[in-house]
Amino acid sequence: MGKIKNVICIEGLGSDSNSYVIDNILVDTGTGMNEGYLASKFKELGIEKDDIETIINTHSHYDHTGGNYLIPNAKIAVHELDAPAVENIECPLTVTFHHDIKRHDVDRKIKNGDKFEDFEVIHTPGHTPGGISLFDGEILISGDTVFADGGFGRLDIGGNHDQMKNSLETLEKLDVEYLLPGHGRWVNNGKEHVKLAYNLFNENF
Ligand SMILES: [Zn+2]
Repeated sequence: MGKIKNVICIEGLGSDSNSYVIDNILVDTGTGMNEGYLASKFKELGIEKDDIETIINTHSHYDHTGGNYLIPNAKIAVHELDAPAVENIECPLTVTFHHDIKRHDVDRKIKNGDKFEDFEVIHTPGHTPGGISLFDGEILISGDTVFADGGFGRLDIGGNHDQMKNSLETLEKLDVEYLLPGHGRWVNNGKEHVKLAYNLFNENF
């Protein structure tokens, strides 16, 4: 747990994604299977769940969207290309790993360049068709596109090699100070971590 500028960082428990809170926006909600955990973190951090107005899911995978139901009053925002996998769990792109997940209405279908507070949406497909990252000029919230220490998202659950290559190339050009990924630790010197991911991807794929 920690705070980077105006972003509160909550480490995911088990296979839960990390969650990030920017004012009244919650980015990713974990699997939803650790209900008490997210509630206890909110309490510890003084976050009222009724103050969360918007949930942004960086992509459709259940380990990022499964907890959406925990904040029933929030509007859900997902990239337009991943929205079908959230709204219809029979969608071929829905990934559940056999967990019992719920469908969610998507209230706002996100496009590249949309703004949330100081953050701009960068469409970063490759892990899923509608994966997004959020960047404010300093902080990159990267979902499952790129992780600390040169990690990048798997391609075998709705992914695409060429799209991932392009997305990593896009992110590699940014002056990222803080990298806040969908899983694992958040780090400073973000640009170095993204560059490493870009290099490792190009060497190995
Ligand atoms: Zn994922």
